[in-house]
Amino acid sequence: MSERLFKMRKIKEKIHSLLSKHRAKTAAHRKRKNSKLNQQEFDDKKIVLKSVPTTYAIGVTNICQLRCPLCISGRRQQDKKLSI
Ligand code: SF4
Repeated sequence: MSERLFKMRKIKEKIHSLLSKHRAKTAAHRKRKNSKLNQQEFDDKKIVLKSVPTTYAIGVTNICQLRCPLCISGRRQQDKKLSI
């Protein structure tokens, strides 16, 4: 490999490295900013939010063998059919 080609590859690697660091910083910054806004909106008891949810939960089933008194699954008071 020629010296010039070697240098160009090094420069290309450096640019890729800097770009990926910048993207990671930008995403982390947006995430922190959204979390802060979300907390502020929660504290202010806003009904319509500008922030997006910080966590998501997906229930894969409504079947449960326990009977926790405060839960509609536990009290068997769901309108939905029990399924997976
Ligand atoms: S809260 Fe509801 S779903 Fe969770 S364990 Fe109790 S009964 Fe099951």
